[in-house]
Amino acid sequence: MPIKPWFPTFIYDSPLQPRGNDAFARALLDDCQKIRAHDRAGQRWCRKNYPAGYTSYGTMTNLHQTFSTFIDLEAKIRRHVNRFARRLDMNLQGARLAMTDCWVNVMSRHAVHSLHLHPLAVVSGTYYVATPPRSSRLRFEDPRLDKLMGAPPKRDPCRPENRQQVSYDVAAGKLILFESWLRHEVASNPTRGERVSISFNYNWV
Ligand code: FE
Repeated sequence: MPIKPWFPTFIYDSPLQPRGNDAFARALLDDCQKIRAHDRAGQRWCRKNYPAGYTSYGTMTNLHQTFSTFIDLEAKIRRHVNRFARRLDMNLQGARLAMTDCWVNVMSRHAVHSLHLHPLAVVSGTYYVATPPRSSRLRFEDPRLDKLMGAPPKRDPCRPENRQQVSYDVAAGKLILFESWLRHEVASNPTRGERVSISFNYNWV
């Protein structure tokens, strides 16, 4: 074959653990609801910055250091992050990847999480806590789209590796990891129930 693919983009998608995901997600949901109820400053921040939803992103991003359920969550996520880093052939040079930020997201009906990336981090991701049926998916965009100025569109259907976007189904107990430069978004949530997730960054320290 004269053509080989180079410079792929990797996305990691796995249940957090082989067993016990439902009970663990329920315990985290309980804490997420307590955090929202007590975070008055965060509620004010969200009225301005995150309509129809709550996130602790503006006020509390060290949940992995403050709540025992989140400390447990970090220990479970870390194993996946290390596996992901090995697959990416990251040479950590004696240092390690450590969680530096961790926050809650509650998307009520019509809440939107527009296209963004996670600056100043290496690996980012989301763990899903509660996902009512028809919850919005997590959509990723080809990181080279802004460089395709004169390129024609892709055929439909096209080979999986030539797609310019891909969406992942979300489900409670599931973990998704990606490199922090990869842009992603969540479309308006159509469900009446709340779509709850915990997002985080890992940095090279
Ligand atoms: Fe994000």
